[in-house]
Amino acid sequence: MPTNFDAKFKTKLKILVSLWADARKQKSLALLEPFRYNINAMAQSVATFALFELQSILQDINKACEDAKAEKLTIKESIVGIDALMNRLISDANKDPNPLLIENDNPFELLTSLDANKSAAKQSRKPSIAIIDDDKSASMAIASLIEEFNFQVDYYESIKVFKAAISDLDMQPDLVMLDITMPEITMEQVFDYAKQLTQRGIKVVSYSGQFSLETRLAAVRAGVVDFIVKPMAILGIIEKINRVLHLQKTRAYRVLFIDDNQSMGEFYQTLLEEAECEVYFSSSVEHMFDNLDDFYPDLFLLDMNMPDVNGLEVAKLIRQQKEYDFTPIVFLTADEQLETKLAALNSGADDVIAKSTPPGLVVKQLLTRLSRALAVKDFVSKDTLTGVLNHGEIMEAAMNSYRLSQRQKSPVSLAMLDLDHFKAVNDTFGHAAGDKVLSGLGQLLKRSLRTTDYIGRYGGEEFLLVFVGSTTEDAAAKLNHIREAFELIEFEAKSQKFRCTFSAGLIDLGNNMSLPHAVNQADQALYLSKEAGRNTVTIYEEKAL
Ligand code: GH3
Ligand code: MG
Ligand code: MG
Repeated sequence: MPTNFDAKFKTKLKILVSLWADARKQKSLALLEPFRYNINAMAQSVATFALFELQSILQDINKACEDAKAEKLTIKESIVGIDALMNRLISDANKDPNPLLIENDNPFELLTSLDANKSAAKQSRKPSIAIIDDDKSASMAIASLIEEFNFQVDYYESIKVFKAAISDLDMQPDLVMLDITMPEITMEQVFDYAKQLTQRGIKVVSYSGQFSLETRLAAVRAGVVDFIVKPMAILGIIEKINRVLHLQKTRAYRVLFIDDNQSMGEFYQTLLEEAECEVYFSSSVEHMFDNLDDFYPDLFLLDMNMPDVNGLEVAKLIRQQKEYDFTPIVFLTADEQLETKLAALNSGADDVIAKSTPPGLVVKQLLTRLSRALAVKDFVSKDTLTGVLNHGEIMEAAMNSYRLSQRQKSPVSLAMLDLDHFKAVNDTFGHAAGDKVLSGLGQLLKRSLRTTDYIGRYGGEEFLLVFVGSTTEDAAAKLNHIREAFELIEFEAKSQKFRCTFSAGLIDLGNNMSLPHAVNQADQALYLSKEAGRNTVTIYEEKAL
């Protein structure tokens, strides 16, 4: 879900709160002006998105500012009035279900963290985790394992130490793993503190040797979101952390929009881009099919009546291509007759939206459709054991990347990975243990690569990776890093601990005559890694073979 739009909205709200705080503190009519200016700007933008309740509160605030300026009310009366309206604005903007603010955000966050830059910085850094536990050696060991999965982890031996640290550093972690049995503090007190943390928007996972139903209930009441029972294998912990922090990766939605009306196109392009979509707009169908696979849209938005071609025919042409079987097609039309709608649906379209619909609502409808379509595609295409793309999907992604690499100047690298002595793992520890290793590697790869890269299961214990925009040297450095992290992970089966390694072969995709040829060369490089003793990454070189 492109929550960046929400983030922008929230940033604007924070700016408003901050401007209002300044004006009321200084009791200054001059400072009221920038506040009122921003209130009006926001009123216009929420109107575009058909958020009429918010719009009416904003208009009331504007009115109250004008009254204050005209000295119709005393300063004190104005402050009380605008305070009340601002509180309504904040709680309304956080109301659930609200069309824009989907996350259940803590309203106090808006009032307490006024620094918009701080939250922007927060988005780009690694998710941070604090472990509070009196058992130092065990916690430090867990911390370093979690760090291998690309998290920032800090350890604190007591709540007191943690409190002192966060007030000193003026930071807060995204998640706290809180031991509930610690010396010199009762479990009740621990849960009280958990409650304070959750009220500040920090996710708390409690962490203990055992949980009775009673403690689980007490924890849930304190706002604790999950439990980790010690000792838990690292992969189980990572899975919980990912789930609690909603760390499934998302990318921008790609929308292809065809409309003969250029200004209509530009208008929706701007709105969709504000909602963090990538938009390819064209005022004619003529070149649409030439570049289709490069752009590879997630949704087609088509005008129905165009001078040279009928939108319905375009929909039929799209549906003839297998790779777009499940890609939504939405018509935007001025013609609201029932027959027209039926004809559109019969041509293979998913939806028909009237041009008279408020633009914000159109965008919202498209975003909802996109998110569902991608969730379904994700579900169908993911390899159920490892959570990465299945064979068909990774080959399709590799094919698209291959075509792209032929056209663009930027490099694309492809890697083939294979687990070392995996047959021995199955033979010694059982197939279930082997499956755990496969899913562990899948998770590590997903946490470590960029959203623009592709990861798929090529075969049984083989993975295919596509590094978009990376030279083979860059990709090798990255892969070696992952390789080193992977060899440290301890798996457990039949009360024994064991570790696993993988080997890889890498090639430059752009420098190749075909995809099958490229996969073959990656395989040859992989073979060299195995020959060299395994647990190695080899870059393919023409002369080496
Ligand atoms: P090498 O280091 O040379 O790659 O040795 P290897 O033992 O890994 O290679 P080999 O190809 O002989 O064995 C691959 C093993 O992977 C055999 C197969 O049973 C196992 N395997 C393939 N898919 C799965 C799976 O989904 N789950 C489990 N547990 N094992 C699998
Ligand atoms: Mg193999
Ligand atoms: Mg193998």
